[in-house]
Amino acid sequence: MAKKSKKSAVRKKKSRTAKQSKRHSIPKKKHPAKKKMLISVQLTDPASNPAQSHHHNPYEVVLHNFELAAKKIGLNEELAMLIRTPDRELRVELPVMMDDGKLHSLIGYRVQHNNARGPYKGGIRYHQEVDLDEVRALASLMTWKTAVADIPFGGAKGGVTIDPTKLSQGELERLTRAFTSKIDLIIGPSEDIPAPDVNTNAQTMAWMMDEYSKSHGYSPAVVTGKPIELGGSLGREEATGRGVCIALREAARSYRFDLKKITVAIQGFGNVGSHTARILEQELGVKVVAISDVKGGIYNPRGIRYADAAAQLKNTGSIVGLKGGVKLTNEELLELKCDVLIPAALGNQLRADNAQRVQAKLIVEAANGPTTYEADEIFNSKKIPVIPDIYANAGGVTVSYFEWVQNVQRFRWEYQRVQNELEKIMTPAFLAVHRTSEFHKVPLRIGAFILAVERVATAAKLRGI
Ligand code: NAD
Repeated sequence: MAKKSKKSAVRKKKSRTAKQSKRHSIPKKKHPAKKKMLISVQLTDPASNPAQSHHHNPYEVVLHNFELAAKKIGLNEELAMLIRTPDRELRVELPVMMDDGKLHSLIGYRVQHNNARGPYKGGIRYHQEVDLDEVRALASLMTWKTAVADIPFGGAKGGVTIDPTKLSQGELERLTRAFTSKIDLIIGPSEDIPAPDVNTNAQTMAWMMDEYSKSHGYSPAVVTGKPIELGGSLGREEATGRGVCIALREAARSYRFDLKKITVAIQGFGNVGSHTARILEQELGVKVVAISDVKGGIYNPRGIRYADAAAQLKNTGSIVGLKGGVKLTNEELLELKCDVLIPAALGNQLRADNAQRVQAKLIVEAANGPTTYEADEIFNSKKIPVIPDIYANAGGVTVSYFEWVQNVQRFRWEYQRVQNELEKIMTPAFLAVHRTSEFHKVPLRIGAFILAVERVATAAKLRGI
């Protein structure tokens, strides 16, 4: 008993000290040893770890784009060094009791990339391929994304290496609670605010909020993407898809595509892909001719009705088998003859080995990191504009920001207000990205990175390094 209370006193002291050190932004980088001692943070420089670099390492892809932007604007090397790599990386072991009574040990990560412009912000992914480099890449993308959208957040990401489709609800809940309590020390409404990503949802966020609130008091602002009943924002669930549709609408205006005449193929029919398909069809009158999920895809040149696809998914767990079209694989969908391709599943889908065969005339990146830099070069040479992820899917984090604002203010916005405010961010952001890329004579992605890197570098400089 005495031993136990001593332990908890040490824990409390650690927690206090960690919080104190976080309040002072400067020592964080200058005293790495102290940081390591407090919360067992890994301090390896990811850029110098050859063991983890392979051909399509997603983190390498982000670093490559960062370097192109930094070089183009002649960014000071010391500043570049500071904002390029993550501020903090936490790897945690999660003991989870399975329904069969066996204890499993899972691995989770939280990477905080940069907080120069505001608290760290980024989703939590449950997927069997989650690894540190993927989480680093996604955390870094969040920094640039929040900067492109010009919302007052930094960038972070988290994940657990697990195939969640094999877990029961009870196992998922225990996993989520274990993960939350292990990253509890570094998250918080003013520190780091998680959200859903692949294979996590509003229920996951409700568990996270509840677990965090046990030790910090009722804290809805610690996560976004919550159920409406627990302080979630109206319009958050569809926000990424809505943002993708705004991105496509603005791109169509710039590149002179007639929305009423184009055909669209969407890879992935989860949160982002399905809302994108719905809004394109029902609000913009756009014809979606192909959709897919992890099990495969379907093509119908006459158009796929969202309501039919949603019903098929609800009834069978997949869109495969939907009547009125022909089956196709995910690879075939990416290479389909259509006007617009929207990857809305996972990263690394458009690569050197298939980019040459892509026939779409415009690509809108709803997923994070779907295009490697070799594929980017191919698209540039083929003059296929790529609306980059750090702009195109920023609608999600933007409405997450609105949710956080509502939680902090204890005040709910109406759905229409959420939509209007989202428009006010996404529409000018397209113009800013487009103008920056034209000004520097670079592709849209590098234009978006330039915009973001300049904003983050300015904030870092103003705060004092
Ligand atoms: P989700 O889990 O709801 O849906 C993922 C979809 O992709 C499902 O239809 C799934 O079947 C499909 N899929 C999975 N593996 C696949 C594979 N190997 N090939 C083809 N399809 C596959 O996830 P989501 O939230 O819709 O996220 C999709 C993408 O959008 C991810 O890259 C995510 O990082 C990105 N994103 C999501 C949000 C958000 O608010 N949810 C915000 C920004 C970016």
